[in-house]
This record gives sequence, structure tokens and C-alpha cells, in this order.
Amino acid sequence: MWDQLNKLKETIIDIIFPRNCLGCGKEGKYVCEKCDLFLSETPSLFSQGSLEELVSIWEYEGLIKEIILRIKYYGAFEAINELVEKAFKIRKPYIPENTVITFVPMFKKKEKRRGFNQAEIIAKKVGEMTGSNVLSLLEKIKDTPSQTKLDKEERLKNIRGLFKRKEGIICNSNVLLVDDVWTSGATMKECARVLKKSGVKRIFGFTLARTV
Ligand SMILES: [Zn+2]
Repeated sequence: MWDQLNKLKETIIDIIFPRNCLGCGKEGKYVCEKCDLFLSETPSLFSQGSLEELVSIWEYEGLIKEIILRIKYYGAFEAINELVEKAFKIRKPYIPENTVITFVPMFKKKEKRRGFNQAEIIAKKVGEMTGSNVLSLLEKIKDTPSQTKLDKEERLKNIRGLFKRKEGIICNSNVLLVDDVWTSGATMKECARVLKKSGVKRIFGFTLARTV
């Protein structure tokens, strides 16, 4: 029923706001078949702190970067559906039995201002496609101080203590941690560290893109 309603919703949205390729303007999809050929894929990373494996599909550049920024600032939710579906055709994250899907949280004030957390929406789509539960396990208790002038190690230090395990939600299964982009990796590694400390078993990661 929900599936059908979602399809209907998408059809209506398509009629009112026809999708155009953000690369060349062709109508139909956010990335048309021709522009798709120019996207660069990235290999998985292993053993990133408490993360066993990180599956990121594309390089964070060009057209992919443009779409993700659009998602982040304007909430192009249909673009998320299109990208996650496209990503899963290329490579699926490893999801062993008994895995809960969670996401990198935003600082509450920031999320209120923006109205949504793109990582949560990506996680929900991943949950829908894999039939796994999506739980909000973490909260961000402080906003991230500026990271721009810091190197990799300083970024990790800078981010310590920003995330907390939510109380009252028990989870001792495996976890797939979802975010939109992996840049230095500091944020996801810190989230994974907090999750590990709270007693979850194995932690895997999924992002749409990462910087190479
Ligand atoms: Zn195109």
C-alpha cells in the first residue's frame, strides 16, 4: 500500500516538476544515461577505526557533488531515491543478518533550521530497499567547530565528544551507519567509535560519495 502511494506521489511530483538531468538538462532523470557514463566510481575502504568496511559509490566531484549539495540545501528528496537506487545497482553495502540501519545525526538546532537531515532520508531509503529497520541511535550534542584549517588528525580531535549514544534505545546487533558524503572520515569514525563503545557488534558504513 505505502509503496503504491509513494509511486503515485512520485508520479504526481514528476508531472508538476519534471525532472531534468543536472548535467545536460535532458528531461526524465537527475542523471541521464549519457551523463551517467562520466561518473567516477570509488572502491570500498576497510578497517576505518571501528568501521569494518565503508561502501561509497562515487567520487565526490562534478555532477554527483552538485546533486548532493542540492539535496543538502534544498532537500531534493526524489534525487535521493534516484541516487540510492542507482548506487545499489553498482554495489550494495554488506548487511549481515541482524543489522540495524542508523545515520549520522545533525545538531538539533541546525536540523530545525534546515527542516530535515539528508543522512536520515538516505538511511530510510536504504532501509526500504534492504528491508532492515532504521533506528536513530545517535545524537549530536554540539555543533561542529570549523574544520577547514585543520589536517586529518586535528579534525578527528576536533570532533571528539560531539556525538552521544541516545538513551533508551537498546541495540546490540550489527549496525550500518549511513551518511551522504565521506570527506576526511572524521565524523563517521567518531560515530562508529561511540556506537562500538555502547555495545553494538559489527559496524559497516555507507555513503553515496567520498573524496578521493
Ligand atoms: Zn545528462
